Amino acid sequence: MSNLVFERVSHAYGNLRAVDDVSLSVDAGELVCLLGPSGCGKTTLLRLAAGLEVLQQGRVLIGDEVMADGQRDVPPEDRSVGLVFQDFALFPHLSVQENVAFGVRKAGRSERAARARAALKQVAMEDYGEAYPHTLSGGQQQRVALARALAPQPNLMLLDEPFSGLDVQLRQEVRDETLHVLKRSGAATLMVTHDPEEAMFMADRIALMHQGRIQQIGRPEELYYKPVSAFVAAFFGEINRLEASVHDSQVETPLGVLDAQGFGEGAAVEVLIRPEAIKLLPPGEHAGSGQVPGTVVTAKLLGRTSLVHLSVADPRQELDLHLHVRVPGRFLPKEGQTFSIDLDPHQAFVFESRKRA
Ligand code: ATP
Repeated sequence: MSNLVFERVSHAYGNLRAVDDVSLSVDAGELVCLLGPSGCGKTTLLRLAAGLEVLQQGRVLIGDEVMADGQRDVPPEDRSVGLVFQDFALFPHLSVQENVAFGVRKAGRSERAARARAALKQVAMEDYGEAYPHTLSGGQQQRVALARALAPQPNLMLLDEPFSGLDVQLRQEVRDETLHVLKRSGAATLMVTHDPEEAMFMADRIALMHQGRIQQIGRPEELYYKPVSAFVAAFFGEINRLEASVHDSQVETPLGVLDAQGFGEGAAVEVLIRPEAIKLLPPGEHAGSGQVPGTVVTAKLLGRTSLVHLSVADPRQELDLHLHVRVPGRFLPKEGQTFSIDLDPHQAFVFESRKRA
């Protein structure tokens, strides 16, 4: 059953179309991430679900109930929704227990206390009920904010960049805990993030947005390995781009041949190649798919991976490519070293060229 449904929702601020004809549903127990660059409309969509923005076009349903359809607009406090924002917004003068109980202020006194205790237990903070927010670490404050949103047992949780206030060390741990708690709660969750890795970690499905529209929606591996456009392919980190043309349903690049079924003979295409798709082989030892060897311009160890700037050049063919290549960190090639190239076709994508001939 879908707990949240957007039907053809659009929203403008003056002339700016922040959300443009979006349809999306989130099932009970499912976590969907709205991913996209700054200003693509993620927060506006989340605010429309919460009722914090007046709906202009389309329909929003929570459970089976219409929340907004242009005539009706259920106020935020009457929607069964738990909200967690970036800055947690805990009340500094209230204890942890009182902060969480605030989420269930409509209930009777004893029920309120029991619900607050249960929610704190859910996030493993039951021993901190008497503490005040300023005495807690960032991660603990985030857990309290989560407990406060979960205390009324909402059918829908809305999270807007909930981890961006945390330092990198803590972030992975808190993400892990939050995912676990949300999954156990059984609520449908819609979460906003601009971080592709975070979306891939948290989401059952990712909705990637650009200029107010959903570009692609699917499981993380679908977006990563089967991007529908160059925008989607490029959103998951740095990417190499080459221009080429199609012959016999194939694209021949200096790095290897790629399948191009569905493109007409001679079609101009753009080839996007992930840095980890390019394999460096000792020259001569293995025959790679590339025709021309690559020469290392620079190589930097970044931890688990090394980033290599590779030049693939052959003046006779007027070939002068500069590529980013990612190799395991333990393998740090030296400047000037040459390698044969092999290409993993699963991480290289062919799209219609945006350049018009
Ligand atoms: P970010 O990641 O930066 O928060 P976002 O994807 O969440 O971005 P929104 O905050 O939904 O994007 O904004 C979408 C567009 O609408 C942006 O161009 C933004 O500047 C504009 N916008 C958002 N809120 C308002 C507002 N209250 N008044 C006018 N324009 C707004």
